[in-house]
Amino acid sequence: METIDSVVIGAGVVGLAVGRALALQGREVLVLESEGAIGTGTSSRNSEVIHAGIYYPQGSLKARLCVQGREQLYAYAQARGVPHRRCGKLIVATSEAQVAALHDIQAKAAANGVHDLALIDAAQAAAMEPALHCVAAQHSPSTGIIDSHALMLSLQGDLEDAGGLVALRSGVESAQVHAQGIVLRTTDGGRWLCRTVVNAAGLRAPALARRFDGLAAAHVPPNHWAKGNYFVLAGRAPFSRLIYPVPEAAGLGVHLTLDLGGQAKFGPDVQWVESPDDLQVDPARGEAFYAEVRRYWPALADGALMPGYAGMRPKVSGPGEAARDFLIQGPGTHGVAGLVNLFGIESPGLTSSLAIADHVADLLHRES
Ligand SMILES: Cc1cc2nc3c(=O)[nH]c(=O)nc-3n(C[C@H](O)[C@H](O)[C@H](O)COP(=O)(O)OP(=O)(O)OC[C@H]3O[C@@H](n4cnc5c(N)ncnc54)[C@H](O)[C@@H]3O)c2cc1C
Repeated sequence: METIDSVVIGAGVVGLAVGRALALQGREVLVLESEGAIGTGTSSRNSEVIHAGIYYPQGSLKARLCVQGREQLYAYAQARGVPHRRCGKLIVATSEAQVAALHDIQAKAAANGVHDLALIDAAQAAAMEPALHCVAAQHSPSTGIIDSHALMLSLQGDLEDAGGLVALRSGVESAQVHAQGIVLRTTDGGRWLCRTVVNAAGLRAPALARRFDGLAAAHVPPNHWAKGNYFVLAGRAPFSRLIYPVPEAAGLGVHLTLDLGGQAKFGPDVQWVESPDDLQVDPARGEAFYAEVRRYWPALADGALMPGYAGMRPKVSGPGEAARDFLIQGPGTHGVAGLVNLFGIESPGLTSSLAIADHVADLLHRES
């Protein structure tokens, strides 16, 4: 059996950011990834938006780590040449009845330390985005977009420069908690004795934690999966900012995002499913998209939307239940020395990744 200081399970954006943070502290770090490449999970199936931190409940980890992580991410992307753009977004009320929600959003944002939202009227919105229909909007200038794969490659590069390693095709099967540390068993029969283990296995983090002998089941949340389907626009969109409707219950509504090449996509919607592998986009769902999008872009042509891709939200609450915060649990919560579990790292996990990494490093420092 090999002995190692720190293992991070999962090479998504969060696992790579955590591995990097630990390696930069001078720790010996190995990131174990079950797939043949980094970032093939949720980290490459999202909107690639750098969120401002507007919507999350005051005092939540989502609010705090998003606001902190957003500034860290802009600074990091700038310093490392990771492609990104602070393009801004408009949150739009398409009926008078929704205007009150725009005021609530501004208050929520301010409570989270986001003070740059500006409430604008229909004429001001039309001056910014002539194709847009709305009765009023909130303009968020600190929202942006980023090339998530370039970000992950850069994080991996930092991790390796600091002496860390990423091992691909190295799935973790189970773990056993011992007095000397945590023993991980990998799918290829390997065994590692680790001082610290960070479970950043994304959609599979709860199922994996249930296979940790010595971790009480009470500390593992249920897992639920909410698929988000995207439809891409044929041709160029007449927008230069991201356009979001007033948010819905389980997601942020069918919004328009742009990638760095200017390609527009609409989504994600919310479809509760039984398996994290159910990633096919049903073309029939496109019908509902037309109605949603035409509320703010009436000129959307028939037949302009094509099935794109889907991402899966790693939910820790089910349909109809209240949304939950990120669950980042260290020894102070579950009592296992050296272990941090990351559950429910849905949006804004990409934006928050660098701040989550600092938070995990701090938990390990304080609680181990
Ligand atoms: C539809 C959608 C849209 C989103 N849009 C945004 C957005 O615009 N902005 C934003 O900030 N956030 C967004 N998010 C959230 C963001 O994508 C995630 O929070 C983030 O990617 C999570 O990263 P992760 O590293 O935790 O998980 P993942 O990227 O899923 O990585 C987990 C990794 O663990 C590996 N793994 C699993 N099991 C094992 C095992 N047993 N052993 C070893 N490896 C294992 C997997 O192969 C995978 O590579 C969105 C999410 C979704 C679903």
